[in-house]
Amino acid sequence: MEMNGRVDWPMPVQTGNQGFVKDLNKAIVLNAIWNQPDICRAEISRLSGLNRATVSSLVEELIADGYVVESGIGESALGRKPVMLQANGNACVMVGVDLGVDYAKLAMANFAMKILATETLPIGENPSYEDVITMISACIRQLVEGAPATVRGLAGIGLGVPGLVDSDRGVLAFAPNLHWENVPLRALVQSQFDVPVFVDNEANAGAIGEKRFGAGKGVQNILYFSAGIGIGAGILVNGTLLSGSRGYAGEVGHFTMIPGGPQCGCGNQGCWETAASESAAINRVKSAIAAGRQTLLQEVIASRASRGKCSHLTADDLLEACERDDEVAIEALQETGRNLGTGIAGFVNAFNPELVILGNSMGRMKSFVMDGAQQEMLKRALPQLADGLQLVPAALGADACVIGAISMVLNQILGLPNIYA
Ligand SMILES: [Zn+2]
Repeated sequence: MEMNGRVDWPMPVQTGNQGFVKDLNKAIVLNAIWNQPDICRAEISRLSGLNRATVSSLVEELIADGYVVESGIGESALGRKPVMLQANGNACVMVGVDLGVDYAKLAMANFAMKILATETLPIGENPSYEDVITMISACIRQLVEGAPATVRGLAGIGLGVPGLVDSDRGVLAFAPNLHWENVPLRALVQSQFDVPVFVDNEANAGAIGEKRFGAGKGVQNILYFSAGIGIGAGILVNGTLLSGSRGYAGEVGHFTMIPGGPQCGCGNQGCWETAASESAAINRVKSAIAAGRQTLLQEVIASRASRGKCSHLTADDLLEACERDDEVAIEALQETGRNLGTGIAGFVNAFNPELVILGNSMGRMKSFVMDGAQQEMLKRALPQLADGLQLVPAALGADACVIGAISMVLNQILGLPNIYA
């Protein structure tokens, strides 16, 4: 038998020309300074292995670009005292948008990731994407107008959105809960602001946020579950987001947990998210009410209905009832938590993470969810993968997605400072 391992050539590869090497070295120097304030040139040289002359010339470029400033004179026992460097907070501003199903949360940060302003906008039922983009754009404009003067102004906008995202093209392919299809979000937002715009799924954005600023700092293999109305995952393998062939990887909420189970929004039945999401917990409460059990949430529904308001229960209603020792609400959340852990165990076996992070509303209801979820995860994953594995709530809480959206811009600048020079 003849084996043929030849592949099509030329392959689309980034070659190591001089410009590429310089861009890479500049990014290494900028990252060193961003990550370690008050670092000196000699220390960057020592940490990176780049020679002193190269470091000095790249630092001069970064100072000229506005990304780096000299922050003072350091201490030295012998010889000349070193000049300290740090990222210039006033280099630029970056905006992140967490687009939810019924809200949009915006935040603006400076280059040192100091949050300068936040804004939350309510979104009505069945919104058109045109209206939502107009509203978000107006809000971004307002935030940027109120920003302090910076060297480079608005450097970019990141969006975390609920649905299937082709992040290479910046297209929201499908958002079932918003009823949107094939919305070219990047192009639409870019036409308003003329800055780089990054779009990703909200679970991926949450994972990016937790990786740089939250529970996943310094961890390379992370499963981040965004469990709210549905369930999605941001899967970090060796520090990089797993995107899959079309960018849609991480739609974990739709694996079949209960064949023939409850109808799911995706068209299938018995998907994991019908058993383990915020909606699943609320459905459990509704079933308990239908079965004649007493719960504080009955009053919430009745009082809303009597005022002609939408009688849907929310995660906040559930949490409040649990905190007031409502048995039905507590049982509903605990069972939902156990189902979360059961599903997570399968993904632990598939991806062998160092850390599992639970975000979105189920993460916020941690006191009633985490114990059961952790127990089921550890019980059902293979012992070799479960040993010592921790399931923790998102450290950034409800801000994981919006911080992740800003981080998309930050990561791009830190990775390719020359493109922005
Ligand atoms: Zn489904």
